[in-house]
Amino acid sequence: IIDFKNVSKSFGHHPVLNKVDLSIPSGEIFGLIGPSGSGKTTLIKIFIGLESLSAGEVSFKGEEIKAIPFYKKIGYMAQSDALYEELTAYENLQFFASIYGLKKKERKQRIEEVMKTVDLLDHLKKPVHLYSGGMKRRLSLAIALLHDPEVLILDEPTVGIDPVLRKEIWAQFQKLKKHGRTLLITTHVMDEAERCDRLALLRDGKIIANEKPESITESFQVSSIEEVFLKSE
Ligand code: ATP
Repeated sequence: IIDFKNVSKSFGHHPVLNKVDLSIPSGEIFGLIGPSGSGKTTLIKIFIGLESLSAGEVSFKGEEIKAIPFYKKIGYMAQSDALYEELTAYENLQFFASIYGLKKKERKQRIEEVMKTVDLLDHLKKPVHLYSGGMKRRLSLAIALLHDPEVLILDEPTVGIDPVLRKEIWAQFQKLKKHGRTLLITTHVMDEAERCDRLALLRDGKIIANEKPESITESFQVSSIEEVFLKSE
């Protein structure tokens, strides 16, 4: 559903992505892992249109992304939360609901649904500056889910979230997959990486592995993704 072809990106003289070829199949949970600074966020930002590319091509459903206004089809959760802290969660969600073009009479119900999904329904009317870090992360996820997008791009979605909620959120990811959604997730949490259907490992701007997690561990001749990660350092 998403294809990067020969994508390179440099910031000044600093190359960050080097001829990346990557296809993300529809209906899967696709994990993108790699050391800090390896270019994961840059790759995502190129797809979202927040960074230009120096060379190559990116397409969504076979169409070059430059040509299509597709943000309504994508749910994006950035690495740092972009929320209006002085407003309540409800007001934040209303704002994004209007940007995504949700029908006015459907908004309240949809907001309640997504807040239930992230277990924040009881905090709907609270100003965001009173939220904890993990609550803000979950609110950002709720915003990404609001317009029921086909594709979810989640940059380190579970940072600051405790293990119990993390498990619940992963159950939601599986549910979204079951409903035909495609998820692209970056993570530094290795047991999350192992739960992905497919995993790409980025190192110094290059894809050094792109397979099912168990095939990656097999080809690196190790027993866990963490060991692959450490071995590739
Ligand atoms: P992390 O796991 O820490 O989030 P990452 O793999 O997502 O890291 P990127 O954020 O893509 O890495 O950054 C890759 C490299 O590009 C880093 O060296 C970073 O300093 C550099 N970089 C990212 N954005 C810019 C920018 N706008 N201008 C200059 N350099 C940048």
